[in-house]
Parts: sequence; structure tokens; C-alpha cells
Amino acid sequence: MPFFDTILRGGTVVDPGCGLHGRFDVGIAGGKIMSVAPDLPRADAGQVVNLAGLIVTPGLIDMHMHAYWGGTDISVDPDRDCLPRGVTTMVDGGSAGAYNFGAFRKLILEPARSRILAFLNLSTIGQVDVRVGEYSNLTWLDAEAATRCLEENRDYLLGLKVRLSRDAVGQNGLLPLEMARAVADRTGTRLMVHVGETDAPLSEILELLRAGDIVSHFLTPRQHGILGEGGRPLPAVRQAVARGVWLDVAQGRMHLSFRVARAAFKLGLLPHTISTDLSRYGMMGSVKDLPNVLSCFMALGLTLQQVIERATTVPAKVLSLSDEVGALRAGCSADVAVFAVEEGQFEFADSTGERVTGRQRLVPRLVLRAGVPVEG
Ligand SMILES: [Zn+2]
Repeated sequence: MPFFDTILRGGTVVDPGCGLHGRFDVGIAGGKIMSVAPDLPRADAGQVVNLAGLIVTPGLIDMHMHAYWGGTDISVDPDRDCLPRGVTTMVDGGSAGAYNFGAFRKLILEPARSRILAFLNLSTIGQVDVRVGEYSNLTWLDAEAATRCLEENRDYLLGLKVRLSRDAVGQNGLLPLEMARAVADRTGTRLMVHVGETDAPLSEILELLRAGDIVSHFLTPRQHGILGEGGRPLPAVRQAVARGVWLDVAQGRMHLSFRVARAAFKLGLLPHTISTDLSRYGMMGSVKDLPNVLSCFMALGLTLQQVIERATTVPAKVLSLSDEVGALRAGCSADVAVFAVEEGQFEFADSTGERVTGRQRLVPRLVLRAGVPVEG
């Protein structure tokens, strides 16, 4: 019997977490990575897939997207819309709240071929309809229900999501964040906090965040973003980062400004993680998918290595999943993405309509989930 089920042969492996950037073979058996080495013996493999000229990365991790297809107006179908594009692990950013998480779990998370984890929305109703501010009615803010749901679903729930923009909170200001803070502390989980167009300045919001919490949409062009006087990042942002707060892109339809990104990058403030905040609207607009967002950040000056790191190694670390995903390390799940790096002139747009032209684009060519190829 062959030692490996599959050898992915001759591709350029880009795995920042393992310090790999070069030509390696990847040996897979039993759905796990077994070995990554310059020349694995072909005779030991059930099948050999030749990937010369292509980039081989750990399956991508999308830290923020919306997967509750059929349960909310914004969600995409994860197995159809994300997995074939190289995203093998995805994290739903609060589509479901305590009262509709049960159906999300049973109908989407459990049967999915993709690995999907989630942040629970503090509001019992979740993000069921984008026109409804889910924290505008205090009836839906139920700390007991959220606590119970988090405790009963620790296998899927990574923390608590709260959105602080005016359209979400109505007249309730920072009350949802204060309540979310208390629930996260009580359950020992992390917070994912949506900023931009808030009543409170960002510095007041950041004061309530601790090591391990996540700021979503940190490059937003909307009011109370990261830039202060003179277009420089606020000191409170650096202080939060120094405390261990993570900055996530979560591009979405409204949350990426190239102007803010350039100002931040110039002073060395880079995203920790690059995610899509993918919705079915964003999919049809400028977000498209995670490889497109990563290509956009290459057009903004990040290297291939840097964007892959921010969609594999770092999100795995942020979410405490590094033993399982985000690396092509022996023992990890054989979740693998293979890309062509196309050269040309490619245009990307931000949420304000500004455009940037890049010279490279990541195009998904092959995806393996637990060692098995995904049909696209
Ligand atoms: Zn979102």
C-alpha cells in the first residue's frame, strides 16, 4: 500500500507559518499533511498531481464572512461560493444570534464540507435583515440567552460579535458593547467588534477591548475610523495593538478605503488579518472573493508572502486553530489551496469608488479539503 494517498508535486509552496517559500512536494495521507520536502518518492503515492508553475498555500481562512445562506438576506452559500475559491476555513461574523443559531448549526455548519466556525451575534435575532438594526430594540439584547448559546456551542462558536454603527444600534450607543464585554468575560470568549459610523469615537470603543479581541473594518472610510489629526492613525489604535487587539480588514461593501490604508501602511500599521466580510452583495461588487481581496492588497503594496500570511498563519493564531489549519505542517488537516499568479493589469476598487491597478492576480486552480479535491 502506498505511504501517501496524494503527492502534490513541484509547486511553489508559500507557507509563512512554517517559513516555507520555495519548490516543495506535499505528501498527504488520511486527510492530513504527512510531509513537505523537496522530493518525495513518487512510488510511495496513490496519485501524483503535478503543480509546476503554481503556488501552493495552506487552505485560506476567511476571518469574517456571512455563511447563513437561506437564514439571512446577506449570506452566501459557503460550499458553493467560497470553498472552490481556496477558502477551506471560514468564520461567520455574527449572522446568527442565540434564537436562530440552532438552525444555522444544524442546517449549515454541521453538513458543510467547508470548515465553518462562527461568532455569535449578541442580538438574539442576529443579522436577519440588513435593514433592521439588531441592537436598536433592547428586547433583543439578552445576555443570558447569548451566554447559554455560547456555552452550549463551544465546538463552533469562537466568540461574540457586536456591531456598533448607528444603523445597527439606533439610540443605544455603546450599551451593546458593554453588554457584549460582560458576556465575553463571563464565558471566557473573545469579541469581534464592527466599527465605523459609530456614535462614540473609536478611542472609547478600543478602551473596552482586550488582548485577543478583534476590530473589524479597521480601514473604513466612515466616521470614527482609525485616522486622527493630520491623517495619522490615532495613538489609541497603536495602544490597542500593543495590548494584543487584532486589526482585521473585513472589507465588505462599505469598509475599505485605499486612502486610509495608504496612510496606515506608510506608518507601518498593517492589517493583522485580511478578510472579506463576504455577503451576496459584496460578491457581486468589488469584494468578489478572498483571492481577489488578497490580490487587491498586493496592488496596495503588500507582498504575496504578506497577504498569504494574513489569510492563513495569523487568522489561525487569532482563532487558536493553529494545530489544525493555516499551515502545511505534518499533522494539520490537508486543506490546501493552489493558485496561478497571473501577470497583467488588474483593477481593484475600494468602497468610495477609488481604483488601483495591480500587476498580479491570484487565480484558484485546485482546492483540497481534508485531502480530497473540491469540484468547482
Ligand atoms: Zn460582517
